Amino acid sequence: MKKILIANRGEIAIRIIRACQELGLETVAIHSIVDKNSLHTKLADESVCIGQNPSLQSYLNIPKVMSAAEITGADAIHPGYGFLSESSEFAKVCQEYGLVFIGPSPRQIEILGNKVEARKLAISANIPLLPGLTEPIVDLKQAKISAEEIGYPVIIKASAGGGGRGMKIVNTPGELNKQLLIAQSEAKSCFGLSDCYLEKYLSNPRHIEIQIIADHHNNVLHLGERECSIQRRHQKIIEESPSITLDQNLKNIVANYAVSLARQAEYRSLGTVEFLFQDNRFYFMEMNTRVQVEHPVTESVTGIDLIKEQIQIAKGLPLSFKQEDVTFTGHSIECRINAEDPFSFAPCPGKVKEYHQPGGPGIRVDSMLYSGYTVPPHYDSMIAKLISYGKTRKESIQRMLRALKEMKISGIKNNSEFHKRILNDSNFQNNNLSTKFIENFLSKENIS
Ligand code: ADP
Repeated sequence: MKKILIANRGEIAIRIIRACQELGLETVAIHSIVDKNSLHTKLADESVCIGQNPSLQSYLNIPKVMSAAEITGADAIHPGYGFLSESSEFAKVCQEYGLVFIGPSPRQIEILGNKVEARKLAISANIPLLPGLTEPIVDLKQAKISAEEIGYPVIIKASAGGGGRGMKIVNTPGELNKQLLIAQSEAKSCFGLSDCYLEKYLSNPRHIEIQIIADHHNNVLHLGERECSIQRRHQKIIEESPSITLDQNLKNIVANYAVSLARQAEYRSLGTVEFLFQDNRFYFMEMNTRVQVEHPVTESVTGIDLIKEQIQIAKGLPLSFKQEDVTFTGHSIECRINAEDPFSFAPCPGKVKEYHQPGGPGIRVDSMLYSGYTVPPHYDSMIAKLISYGKTRKESIQRMLRALKEMKISGIKNNSEFHKRILNDSNFQNNNLSTKFIENFLSKENIS
């Protein structure tokens, strides 16, 4: 493997280019017309324009991505996250063209990318999950019977769902019909598959996930947990590692569940197994078969470069460390900086007049920003990730607050003020977290 095409844009494309450069690999960036001056195209060794701005005509267009790989002579493709990263079809096409897809096999993506199939796999690996269906909903009658059995509230989820979309909470039997129809039609339009299932809805859980790393030599390791309960509309905005809520016994339990699932799936790459945690019990939610946005917090506390490891695994190399070699030191937090209004959360793309990147001890910034860059309206609104590291959670929070104060982005609105408000909140500081945190926080702010 000599040359890697990065089938992505923004900060994750840059993150992958950096890993490739350290490994002595050549890089090819692809971009849409509007992304011509994007930082990833400047940092890669070569760049190819692959089409119009809508993702379907560029970053999601398999023939165009494959043509770019062919004309540049790339021998591997890194999909990053989002876009084609969880497309089993894309992984299959790469295989057919003799290119290495830096990720798991098409079959693993297919099974684990379908939440219903993943639930079946979890059952076969003896991993606890929430009461619910293990087949897609057939009709309203069946959904009603099963919701009665489980007990309201329930949540309807798209089998092929992702990114926090396609989920509907149903509190009473009267709401079921309407919510089911909406969920199914949203699932069809967002994911091309109308299949939905339902499970018990937990009122106040934490989101805890485990980083998995597995090679082609039967080594399946975990790299600890991440606490990702700070979410808005089921989308994470602050993540941290470790979770100070879990004692060593609970950490071992959840890590063992994740390793068992990866073993059951014969998984070989980076992956994340997600759980809900409430009343001292874990419930399997899903497995993501790609690198996660929040991977840097795990890198900070373990000192392991996840992208470099992912590339080495794809080359067929065995992991260079064993489970007992993995150590966890200090505490790391990530804030997702989005180009959005800090109060209404409406996206605010546009030209960045001035950008000052924070630095100093314990601060890492993964971003595509530079002064004069125009954030296009066509893609995700995340423009930077601030990652802090400290000996303790308290020091990590202090450093993040200092970095948020130091960061200057003029010309477009962003949510750094919102992050400051959360990090200064006593509930956040006291680790009083749940997936309901933001909802409660905003209603508390509105009252005061
Ligand atoms: P996606 O794949 O779209 O990210 P997930 O299944 O990972 O969807 O769920 C995203 C978030 O939705 C979770 O972190 C949690 O906040 C919420 N959620 C999902 N299922 C449940 C549930 N059964 N009970 C309570 N909250 C849930």
